[in-house]
Amino acid sequence: MEIACNVTRQAPLIAELVNLATARWRGGASVQPLAGENLVTTFAANLGDRASVALRADPDAGRHLAELAAELRQALLAERPADQAARINAIIRRYGAQPYLVEDVGQPFHLHFHGSGGSEVEALGGEFATALALIVDGYGPDRFGECEAHQCEAVYIDLTRNASRRYCGAACTARAKTAAYRSRRHI
Ligand SMILES: [Zn+2]
Repeated sequence: MEIACNVTRQAPLIAELVNLATARWRGGASVQPLAGENLVTTFAANLGDRASVALRADPDAGRHLAELAAELRQALLAERPADQAARINAIIRRYGAQPYLVEDVGQPFHLHFHGSGGSEVEALGGEFATALALIVDGYGPDRFGECEAHQCEAVYIDLTRNASRRYCGAACTARAKTAAYRSRRHI
């Protein structure tokens, strides 16, 4: 199945929001999950100009982003496929995701799934929940996980061809390899 290019764009944004707002360990270091202004400003830096401005103008964005991040984390790390599907469906309904075609300057019409509520967080909630649903539909239920490296709670979304991903990024992959090498030498 051909996955909409929108989905490959959303996947790292989803993981970034969840990790900023919920992870207490990242890459072997203790971190404070972000909330309020800090969460809004840091996450908005990943977005385009229009979305970033809209997010920072919303006084409730921090609280709503944190709620969305918690819901997304539960969906990503649900153990049974049925629970995962139910949680993703619940987020789709909650944010009122609706498919519609948008024409941006210089681009052909492409499909968006903004939520119906009007705020930027609701728009993102609709996009993100739909992206997760399309990933489950196109790749199966096993494409989400928590980094397996020591002291890291970051989530990842695996869009590799062979479902080979186990770590949140290059740094944790390298840390885990080093740890495995050391433990073999000490046996
Ligand atoms: Zn990690």
